[in-house]
Amino acid sequence: MSYEDLKHMPKVELHCHLELAFRKATLRGWALEKGMAVAREEDFDREFLIKEPMDDLPTVLHKFLNTRDVIDTEAKVEQLTFEACEDMFLLSNVRILELRYAPSFLLDAHLSMDADRMLEAILRGMARAEAAYPMVVGLIGLLQRIKSVKDNAFWCDWILERKAHFVGMDLADDEVSYPASPFAPLFQKAKAQGLGITVHAGEPAVPGAAKNILVALDELGADRIGHGVQAIHDAEVVARLVKDGVPLELCPWSNVLTRAVPDLKSHPFKRLMDAGVKTTVNTDDHGVMDISLIQECQNLTTHLGVSMEDLHQCNQWAREASFIADDRIQAVWTT
Ligand SMILES: [Zn+2]
Repeated sequence: MSYEDLKHMPKVELHCHLELAFRKATLRGWALEKGMAVAREEDFDREFLIKEPMDDLPTVLHKFLNTRDVIDTEAKVEQLTFEACEDMFLLSNVRILELRYAPSFLLDAHLSMDADRMLEAILRGMARAEAAYPMVVGLIGLLQRIKSVKDNAFWCDWILERKAHFVGMDLADDEVSYPASPFAPLFQKAKAQGLGITVHAGEPAVPGAAKNILVALDELGADRIGHGVQAIHDAEVVARLVKDGVPLELCPWSNVLTRAVPDLKSHPFKRLMDAGVKTTVNTDDHGVMDISLIQECQNLTTHLGVSMEDLHQCNQWAREASFIADDRIQAVWTT
């Protein structure tokens, strides 16, 4: 298949962290304004990008903090949001895009920022992209499991009070040291109020990680699983995903960089799909990980024998699994 064929295919991206979905040239400009020594591109790459497999997930998370320091005003958040959407459309022909962000993540580093002003800035960026391109964008509020239940209860309520602006809620960060169960009541509450639920689970290559997927489904009421790549090591989990038709938001290149899988060739994307799991293709952090959705698709076709028909199927599953209202989707999705 040709690059043009791949480009032409309308795509869905369900798993994209807004804070790390920057355009490189823009972030480098902001870093220079703050006096950081990133005049040479290789200096910027070294300070901000993850281009090779890191030693472990906490190391990767630590590197994300460099980016957080630079995104320090609501105006930058609006530009970040618009460019994240624009790049998804222009580079990869993404028509349905769900962005996720943790209200607490940027606020923790920048006392001058305000949660409502930041949300308004994100919504402005999304609206500008929707006006400029044939795409729809939905917003997912993200809770950080490294924070207390009390802190997350605050943000859960904050999101629910503004639920007209959100399509879903997510739980992220280190799933090894911070189990999901304590946050179950928050997710049940959000689900009861109509938000879609997705949970990062089964991501790192540690024994038993696949079981976290069952916790996400049974206790948090997850409609979709973020990553879930370790399911391949647990037949019971795969059987459950197939039986209930639970989509996995797979992010293959991210899995390589965080060493969730040894390399692209051994990624279980195709094996999970062949087993009957609803697999979807996503970038996770396209800025910091220097990847686009079309490159993710190319990696799958090059290294794993995924076909155009397979990718069409994955996009169809992703479209069906999107938390964005169907009437909005139909306006931009014709296949
Ligand atoms: Zn993620």
